[in-house]
Amino acid sequence: MRTAIYPGSFDPLTNGHLDVIQRATKLFDRVIVAVAKNESKHPLFTIEERLEIVREGVRHLPAVEADSFDGLLVEYAERMAAQAVVRGLRAVSDFEFEFQLALMNRKLNERVETIFMMPKDTYTFLSSRIVKEIARFGGDVSSFVPAHVQIALKFKLASHPA
Ligand code: ADP
Repeated sequence: MRTAIYPGSFDPLTNGHLDVIQRATKLFDRVIVAVAKNESKHPLFTIEERLEIVREGVRHLPAVEADSFDGLLVEYAERMAAQAVVRGLRAVSDFEFEFQLALMNRKLNERVETIFMMPKDTYTFLSSRIVKEIARFGGDVSSFVPAHVQIALKFKLASHPA
């Protein structure tokens, strides 16, 4: 059984994340999308909301589970008996941080490998931050996020205006 963890803030889940998740299911028997608490990033959605959004988004994928975690990623990966951590690489700008993170995680636990996946080219410019920005100003995000995320953004931004 090959298990991978796909960690992130997922604030909120986008079609770019889903593209990476789908690619990971081709390589692993089980993919756990792990929503990081990351309170220091001041997320728009609470951890419970982000987890529920991911859960709904991966419902159609039988090999994929959603979970949340706090603390060290490599310790979480060990607890879940995962062999790998999956991260998405969009552009060179992602590389430096991801490279540092991967090597640090390797230093902390050599048994966990990091795998990078590149999304479909049309998603390389997509990020949760840009989606929130567009939604905040009333723009159309229907080609960037699943329908349930669009609804969640509408409700959230109505109660948390810019
Ligand atoms: P984090 O706060 O850990 O960066 P994100 O939710 O922003 O969490 O991203 C989680 C992972 O998904 C990261 O590896 C990020 O590079 C990747 N990712 C985010 N958006 C995309 C996208 N559009 N295409 C491919 N990978 C992506």
